[in-house]
Amino acid sequence: LPSDALVFFGATGDLAYKQIFPALQAMMLRDGLDLPIIGVAHSGWSVEQLRQRAHDSLAQAAKNHGGDVDEAAFAKFAARLQYVDGDYNDPATFTQLKQVLGSAKAPLHYLAIPPSLFGVVVKNLQQAGCADNARVVVEKPFGRDLASAQALNRTLHEVFPEPAIFRIDHYLGKEPVQNLLYFRFANTVLEPVWNNRYVDSVQITMAEQFGVDGRGSFYEGVGAIRDVLQNHLLQVTSLLAMDAPIGNDPVSLNAEKLRLFRAMRPLDPAEVVRGQFDGYRKVEGVAPDSNVETFVALCLHIDTWRWAGVPFYIRAGKSLPITTTEVMVDMKTPPLSVFDEITPPQSNYFRFRLSPEVIIAEGMRVKRPGETMQGDPVELVARHHAEPEKPPYERLLADAIRGDNALFTSDECVEAAWAVVDRVLQHPGSVSFYEPGSWGPAEAAKIVSSAEGWHDPQAEASEPC
Ligand code: NAP
Repeated sequence: LPSDALVFFGATGDLAYKQIFPALQAMMLRDGLDLPIIGVAHSGWSVEQLRQRAHDSLAQAAKNHGGDVDEAAFAKFAARLQYVDGDYNDPATFTQLKQVLGSAKAPLHYLAIPPSLFGVVVKNLQQAGCADNARVVVEKPFGRDLASAQALNRTLHEVFPEPAIFRIDHYLGKEPVQNLLYFRFANTVLEPVWNNRYVDSVQITMAEQFGVDGRGSFYEGVGAIRDVLQNHLLQVTSLLAMDAPIGNDPVSLNAEKLRLFRAMRPLDPAEVVRGQFDGYRKVEGVAPDSNVETFVALCLHIDTWRWAGVPFYIRAGKSLPITTTEVMVDMKTPPLSVFDEITPPQSNYFRFRLSPEVIIAEGMRVKRPGETMQGDPVELVARHHAEPEKPPYERLLADAIRGDNALFTSDECVEAAWAVVDRVLQHPGSVSFYEPGSWGPAEAAKIVSSAEGWHDPQAEASEPC
């Protein structure tokens, strides 16, 4: 059954301001969301102050898109908004919440709060009788390493069964990420070649041109491995490499993903390069001798019949030449070179540009006009000119309210993904430095064994056809 109230811990916080108020307002406008929304925090605010904060958030979001707040729609939203003020450590806060919930029988509790507070909040929810038939949404990070992720899951499971827990990795709500799954399993032509007989290697690049943008103290506690590799990039890898699920339901999807995560060989520190851009240590909130990586490049092995021997090269970093996320699946060259080409022909490939544009392209070769059997590379390009993407928070919150957890990650998948990176986190070694605006430290080039090295996502794609 759908949830009949949304309780929103952290209502006065940054995430609420940037993402959640705009998502809720849009859900009311587009999807007719109509349930009580109860903010809980300890700023000593009145409900009017929370409504003002929500209005400020919507005004900011509207300004970013060159528009104005829809005041009539906001009035309806504001009327649904309630506020409970109190400390999460105080059971009285939850007694008050229970009263405000009134006749609601199946609330959704959204924990937009620091993870250190998850334990006390879920226990107090249970004691106040607010956890019965309820669902809970938690925000990343789901732990800092394998041990803390296991502890967090135990804490949540003391109160909520796994199907009632919704772990948000907003990356999974993105259209081009979902399209990886769709494109692979809605087409028949890929499956016969999607294995170690035809695929030579896979590269995934997540590049950000910007640095840590005033978030130095946050980034110091995280680094690239925890921030994007353990979650977003291993999730992308799982969608690229998993076997076909038997259905599109959460149980079937998570079962195949989990098999894949478990087949990922724990990273060997010798196949991981951690980098830090010059100047990072001078950012406010960053230690002058910080060993936190702003760049990581690595080789991942997946020990299945399908992928044995195929390296998955992954890199992510800040202060790189451009902002983009791209996947390249490089196919093997033909078994025999029939044509006497002067330069060795480039192999076929599949290119998935996940951002900022959404492109799926297949790299092929065609004969150049003339007397010789020489060819040129071309790309068969599918551009996705869909309507503007629904912001991931809107999509994911609506799913959580409906109880659909297909786009949320499970306890076992989270732990299996931490197991992949845990050894490197425990024994990180020192960082190598790189110039801002470069593709990371020189050592990163050695990760890729082929002569071509890393693909350059900046390079003009060959002639589209
Ligand atoms: P934040 O700005 O620090 O907000 C924390 C919220 O928790 C505030 O509303 C605060 O209320 C409330 N709070 C903290 N301690 C409390 C207590 N003892 N009793 C009652 N209320 C208490 O945090 P955030 O940036 O919104 O992040 C929230 C969560 O989302 C974190 O897990 C974070 O990792 C995750 N996340 C954030 C972002 C982002 O863009 N911000 C992105 C992805 C994930 P008061 O204001 O009243 O103190």
